[in-house]
Amino acid sequence: MLKSFEAKIMGNISEYAIATLGSHTALQILRGAKDEGFKTICICQKGQDKLYESYKVADEIILVDSFKDFFQVEDQLIQKNAILIPHGSFVSYLGWEKIQDIKVMHYGTKGILEWESDRTKEREWLTSAGLRLPKIFKTPGDIDRAVIIKFHGAKGGKGYFIANSPEEFYERIQEYSGDDGYVIQEYIVGVPVYTHYFYSPITQELEIMSFDKRYESNADSIGRIAAKDQIDVGIRTSYTITGNIPLVLRESMLPDVFEMGENVVKESRKLSNSLTGEKLTKGLYGPFCLEAIVDPDLRFYVFEISARIVAGTNPYINGSPYTWLKYNEPMSTGRRLARDLKEAIESDRLQEVLG
Ligand code: AMP
Repeated sequence: MLKSFEAKIMGNISEYAIATLGSHTALQILRGAKDEGFKTICICQKGQDKLYESYKVADEIILVDSFKDFFQVEDQLIQKNAILIPHGSFVSYLGWEKIQDIKVMHYGTKGILEWESDRTKEREWLTSAGLRLPKIFKTPGDIDRAVIIKFHGAKGGKGYFIANSPEEFYERIQEYSGDDGYVIQEYIVGVPVYTHYFYSPITQELEIMSFDKRYESNADSIGRIAAKDQIDVGIRTSYTITGNIPLVLRESMLPDVFEMGENVVKESRKLSNSLTGEKLTKGLYGPFCLEAIVDPDLRFYVFEISARIVAGTNPYINGSPYTWLKYNEPMSTGRRLARDLKEAIESDRLQEVLG
């Protein structure tokens, strides 16, 4: 952390503002920050600011042509003593490398974002945390069961396809001309379950905040068309995310879910930043999500981790059944984040949640 920031660190939340990009989970982050008593700043792309004005979640709106221009407004944020909350749009617009250059105060370990952005690294982390992952097939010739082919650059799962044999793979791959690499992953027949966690370095507690499943186009409505018609019109499955659906899990599954989260947090403290070689000693903290398919034997196959707030928490702006158990007041993941910052500031431990 730069010395100039240390000089500005004070024990009263009125000295700070919480800032984020106007998209993804900004509404709940900003509303949650306001509920905790913070000033709020929303960085909006021109033309998208009306929404944030309408909900009155931002005390101030800073306009940019594109989120890619974030660094043009960074000095303004520093002057306002802003604390930045990263979400999915930071990763998709700036990329994990540029995020490392952010100088304004930033909630969360920046280096962790490299580990969620790189499929090989992500796999290494989750495997060492003892989680069960779908098998990866190194070459198409090895395909001996249903597999899902995921293209690295695919936005929202567009273009993914399923194959059952090497022959089917080679036939379908001809349709794709792009030079993006791909991964061949075992296709798990089951149901998707996305678990939203929060780990606070201040309380040193892990919390299960909520669960969701995704609403993906067209995968989630193919079942409305008879199989014969699907084949006749040559429908191809895509997984473009359009929204999130709330979910509660069988209570008997919660202890395992809790343990998975704990193991991932513990293991994250052994990771390091490949650019600097620095060990990520603070590890993963704040909100994160394990994305899994649960098979009929109730085994979790985790295929992805998001090391920051996910959009699946958006159905719970007023809290979830699980946060209600703990808080007895509306507690979104955005608000939980602000509470962590508030407790850190008031106990003079802000540095522990900045990364
Ligand atoms: P992803 O781009 O990895 O988030 O995957 C997009 C969607 O594909 C997920 O939301 C799941 O519905 C589905 N999916 C991904 N991986 C698997 C898998 N290994 N087995 C079954 N379904 C999967």
